[in-house]
Amino acid sequence: MLIAYNNRQQLFLPYQYTRNALQRYRRQMKFFCPQCLEPVQLKIGHYNIPHFAHLTKNNCSQLFAEGESKLHLHGKIQLFEWLKKLGHKVELEPFLKKLFQRPDLLVIIDDNHFALEFQCSTISHEKWQQRTAGYEKNCIQAIWLFQTPQSKDTFNGIRKISIPPLLQKAFVTTTTGLPYLMTYNAKTAHFIYWTNLLHVHGHTFIGKVQEIAIDKQRFPFYTPKRISHDEFQLYWQLYKQSSRQFAYGRLLHSKKGVQDSFLRNCYELQLSPTAMPSYIGIPVKEGTAIALFASEWQMMLLHFCKQLNHQPYELSKIQIQKFLRQHHLEVTEQAVRVIQHYGQLLKSMKQENGLLEICEQVYVHLFAIATIY
Ligand SMILES: [Zn+2]
Repeated sequence: MLIAYNNRQQLFLPYQYTRNALQRYRRQMKFFCPQCLEPVQLKIGHYNIPHFAHLTKNNCSQLFAEGESKLHLHGKIQLFEWLKKLGHKVELEPFLKKLFQRPDLLVIIDDNHFALEFQCSTISHEKWQQRTAGYEKNCIQAIWLFQTPQSKDTFNGIRKISIPPLLQKAFVTTTTGLPYLMTYNAKTAHFIYWTNLLHVHGHTFIGKVQEIAIDKQRFPFYTPKRISHDEFQLYWQLYKQSSRQFAYGRLLHSKKGVQDSFLRNCYELQLSPTAMPSYIGIPVKEGTAIALFASEWQMMLLHFCKQLNHQPYELSKIQIQKFLRQHHLEVTEQAVRVIQHYGQLLKSMKQENGLLEICEQVYVHLFAIATIY
């Protein structure tokens, strides 16, 4: 932790002092945890930022991760200083007695309270939900800001990106329905946006990456704009390229031959896996619920429909669930909706009778009127 009471009952922030001054204070003062009020030790290492640690392990030290990384301490200070500079009322690591929680930062703007959590380590989904619920119950808006993953080289532009599952849970949606992710890189003091996310398969997305230096950011944070038609052309190229690579990979590497349900379905529908008709392999809303490539599950769905002599948009919810189970896909409400979205898209394409190019239709479906996401 970055803050503690001194023996004069004042909150003490060691990072604001020089090492020499801190060594003097350490001899002169006693420090206490703002939460459990037990004595804490001021640590002035060469490597880490000066901080406090409980002298003895207790409930408190376990509740609030003691071994905070250098990056976490750095990030907290950067964010704290930045919010102060913007003129907001902000508290560092305030202990909220009523909730028994201690956010990294608490920002107060008029009557609105925001708890800002800068997360550098992984956190279980339960703990995350539990803490968020605690804040929300007390009319505090929880904001989870994750440290930018190290593997991410963050050049700006439209490209294929891999987003770990934990960060996928941190997706936010703009008021116009665009899903995006924002992380903070404490090493470079930049916010990174991954916007207009389009699911390809598994944890792979196509997105627009934008970086913003902390001193250019505002609070509440900037929300991204949707991409233009022209930008979507690039998305479409990348998307089609990935689908083609997937199909070739299947053909080349599948030693299972007819055992491969995708290839078998292609064969039975008399379609070439590498030259799919335009209505197979279309990205749809909420597509993350099905981890496969769209071309793969859509092919299997059309095969499933052919056996039932149905159109995809005629499938009942129970039939959709049966389809998902049959192909060992996770049966969730969202996965059912993904298939319904696809059915509706096919229906509208039939009605429009090729009036619009498919790329244009997908753009409209995903981004231009993305309000249902
Ligand atoms: Zn304590």
